[in-house]
Amino acid sequence: MCDQLEPSKGLSIIKAKCPQCQSGKMFTHSAFNLSKFMGMNETCPVCKLKFEIEPGFFWGAMYVSYAFTVGLMLVMGGLILLISGGKAGFYTYIIPIISALILSSPFTYRYSRVLMIYLFSPIRFNPELANKK
Ligand SMILES: [Zn+2]
Repeated sequence: MCDQLEPSKGLSIIKAKCPQCQSGKMFTHSAFNLSKFMGMNETCPVCKLKFEIEPGFFWGAMYVSYAFTVGLMLVMGGLILLISGGKAGFYTYIIPIISALILSSPFTYRYSRVLMIYLFSPIRFNPELANKK
């Protein structure tokens, strides 16, 4: 990894980094750790930003999560419709869609919080706080 480059916002979102320093991790464990993927740092380990900027801030992430879920269902439904040529039965839609929702739930949970803090909070990147370790 090259820490000298200006961090890209898109990359920081994908890596779930703190929106203020884009260096500290927002979550304590990997998304693939199925028992601990929800663990979130209370403050940024690098710049000490408190992630829950006000009580209940992450309740709004439910709406982002809802948008993710509806989007995924529409994409999956559309793909099945295209592949089957409209001849698929009910379960041919339901089983892959529900499987995809379950498999993507750690990512939906995390990225709805990440997008919530990047898009709907006043916190902006501060280069002076980046990479102080
Ligand atoms: Zn930070």
